[in-house]
Amino acid sequence: MAAKTLDYQKLLAHIAAEVARYQGQGQQASYIPELANRDPDKYGITLDFLDGSRYCFGDSEERFSIQSISKVFATAAAFGLIGDQLWERVGVEPSGNPFNSLVQLEYEAGKPRNPFINAGALVVADILLSHLRDPYAEMLGFMHELTGNSTIAYNKKVAASEFATGFRNASLAFLLKSFDNLHNSPRDVLDLYFHYCSIEMSCTELARAFHLFARRNQLNCQIPDLTSSQLKRLNALMLTCGFYDESGEFAFKVGLPGKSGVGGGIAAVYPGFYSVAVWSPRLNAKGNSILGMHTLELLTSKSKLSIF
Ligand code: GLN
Repeated sequence: MAAKTLDYQKLLAHIAAEVARYQGQGQQASYIPELANRDPDKYGITLDFLDGSRYCFGDSEERFSIQSISKVFATAAAFGLIGDQLWERVGVEPSGNPFNSLVQLEYEAGKPRNPFINAGALVVADILLSHLRDPYAEMLGFMHELTGNSTIAYNKKVAASEFATGFRNASLAFLLKSFDNLHNSPRDVLDLYFHYCSIEMSCTELARAFHLFARRNQLNCQIPDLTSSQLKRLNALMLTCGFYDESGEFAFKVGLPGKSGVGGGIAAVYPGFYSVAVWSPRLNAKGNSILGMHTLELLTSKSKLSIF
């Protein structure tokens, strides 16, 4: 791989200097009040190769709210638990709509387009609520196994803040219930979903957890038991649906399966080679990290390590 000849530590510093010109553009998410309490100008990145080499830059060890990146882990857990039955309740098509849109769900009779928009993630949370003995503890256990770090936790304040103000998500949950696509109470599903979104991890921890998708085979992980074919499909979903109505743009510019969150994080993988996580809280209008998108575009352009 040409990659070996590159000085990645230097490359990350160089990219950070280049994207600094976009610093100050965009806004931190404030619709979840507790998220707006962070310094919006943090910036960190971790590039974690499967061969064991790892490169970090900036605030790569500081934990942040992973928000919608949690949807990938929750979907993986549900897929591992109930297999293809999952796709009877959630689709696998890009939505072309904002992550919290209600309209499509109404005219498509309560079946969310994919598990990475909010409606889909609520159905996934409902499935985990029905199938896991303790869906709160078991999801954290999954994160602990993937990272080897048992201090990863929910931020209860962020979860409570979203519970108090998440009216669009509440609308989605009740609409899903009206179509019989939630089996538990909307309130319980929302609480679990908000907790999953409130998990805090650093770039280094996220990149390590994403080795699951980069390796496409599971090592020493009890929950859930995923096949390599299932992991491949999760990567396909990240590529086509990971960035909501900006998924095409991300595939076009970056060329990796990945997932963003409104906490400003993006995690992505080059299957067979590496995973990467970047964090910068200022978002564009679609809810994706501005510096994060530019960083990954430069990373894959300069290293020539994208799937295309
Ligand atoms: N918790 C957030 C929400 O439901 C997650 C959204 C995101 O990260 N895109 O609105």
